[in-house]
Amino acid sequence: MKHIGLFGGTFNPIHVGHLRAIQEVQNRFALDKCYLIPAALPPHKEPGEVVDAKYRLEMIQLAVSEYSDRLNSVVISDVELKRSGPSYTIDTVNHFKSILPDYSRLYLILGIDAFLEIDTWKFCVDLFYLTAFIVMTRSISVDTEGTLKWKVLEDYIKGKISDGYKFSISRSCFVHDEKQTIFFVDIDSLDISSTQIRNLIKKGKPIKLFVPKKVEDFIINKGFYT
Ligand code: ATP
Repeated sequence: MKHIGLFGGTFNPIHVGHLRAIQEVQNRFALDKCYLIPAALPPHKEPGEVVDAKYRLEMIQLAVSEYSDRLNSVVISDVELKRSGPSYTIDTVNHFKSILPDYSRLYLILGIDAFLEIDTWKFCVDLFYLTAFIVMTRSISVDTEGTLKWKVLEDYIKGKISDGYKFSISRSCFVHDEKQTIFFVDIDSLDISSTQIRNLIKKGKPIKLFVPKKVEDFIINKGFYT
């Protein structure tokens, strides 16, 4: 069995939070390969601020080359950029299922913020038959009293996806008789978002702590996000 991660996003721009997250997930789940998949026309984002797909792809290439010693088997995929129309994850998962050998197991990697909107995605329920999920929870899985917020997740998953999901405490995941497992992983992630980086640039503030050097230089040279 080969374990294959699919990590999609707008990457507007890619930042060290994304890169650290991939490293952590790859290590914890012993993924054989992880595809980084920029979205062409993200269905959930306002188009105005999203830089052209070819430049977002170029920034990903620069970031991965700078982090090549720390990222194992990361492959950049332009599959969504080659399709016309909005980037729907279901189409991307079907694409990888069609090109990868049968012994591959797919894991869709996403942050908890993205996961908690998944009921708005096209053919969302079908996705859970096709791929397992790795949801990166950052610190939100524990509330101020220290109790796990599994109940919130359980209500969301049972209410919006399928009542048949059951929580497995020992494995921190939700399992289902017919659908694939939803794993949760509390990663030691960095509190960084692309929005934050774009806002810093607008205010003329430095971004060097948040993006690889080559990406910083590229953004400055192109004058993006000003
Ligand atoms: P924006 O601020 O523009 O919404 P973003 O920083 O959330 O962007 P995306 O490209 O939308 O970046 O995210 C791609 C995926 O990476 C999503 O699943 C998101 O939850 C996850 N992600 C984003 N930032 C981090 C981070 N700092 N640590 C871990 N995962 C992250």
